[in-house]
Amino acid sequence: MNYILLGPPGAGKGTQAKKIVEKFSIVHLSTGDMFRQAKQSDKAIASLMEAGKLIPDDVVVNMVKNRLKKDDVKNGFLLDGFPRTLNQAVELDKMLKTENIKIDAVFSIIIDNDEAVRRISGRRMCECGASFHVDFLPPKVKDLCDYCKKKLFQRADDKEEVVKERLKVYDAQTKPLIDYYTKAGLLVDIDGSQSESAVFDQISKFIANKK
Ligand code: ADP
Ligand code: ADP
Ligand code: ZN
Repeated sequence: MNYILLGPPGAGKGTQAKKIVEKFSIVHLSTGDMFRQAKQSDKAIASLMEAGKLIPDDVVVNMVKNRLKKDDVKNGFLLDGFPRTLNQAVELDKMLKTENIKIDAVFSIIIDNDEAVRRISGRRMCECGASFHVDFLPPKVKDLCDYCKKKLFQRADDKEEVVKERLKVYDAQTKPLIDYYTKAGLLVDIDGSQSESAVFDQISKFIANKK
């Protein structure tokens, strides 16, 4: 059971991923979370992320390659934020072939740019990867993570100018993957403007039927 979550910044990938991996006992592989860790000791990564630019493909691909060699992915995984360029998708296909792994579906969560900006401007994150929203999905206790009770923070790249850049990067580099995975017969369209629980139901039903 291996899945990919595709979608623009703010679409709800992280939010859904957290719930999906819990429900189906699979591993959450978020390249964004991995780089938020890495940026604490790597200035080059930090400056790219804070400018809303992508990390070079070779760096990302190597990181994912190493991660996919670990045993825990054998019971299934959910990729969140990877692949993000056509080249990354092609490299992923090569890795999967070598490791004899198949992707079951690619969930493409779509929202429009205005909604993306509304979501990102109110986003509050936890270091465990959980996402909340000050208005749309507030945590049970203000500023504390529902899952691990740590203090929430605002992402450095969630500032308005950087968000605009990230949406541009998404359109230019990541959107073409919709076509790529449609041609591969893997794409599942999800209307991300629905409520969080409606999106979750749709994805869960799809996975449950596939099992
Ligand atoms: P969002 O939740 O807004 O979609 P992520 O948390 O997935 O963003 O990613 C945050 C940042 O980490 C990206 O803007 C980029 O700088 C870097 N990053 C994450 N995944 C990738 C990737 N697959 N390729 C290149 N850069 C990436
Ligand atoms: P991504 O990982 O795709 O960048 P997140 O999961 O971090 O997106 O969600 C972006 C913001 O929108 C967060 O503040 C999150 O709480 C909120 N959010 C996620 N899904 C929904 C939804 N269906 N309706 C309203 N707000 C949502
Ligand atoms: Zn947490």
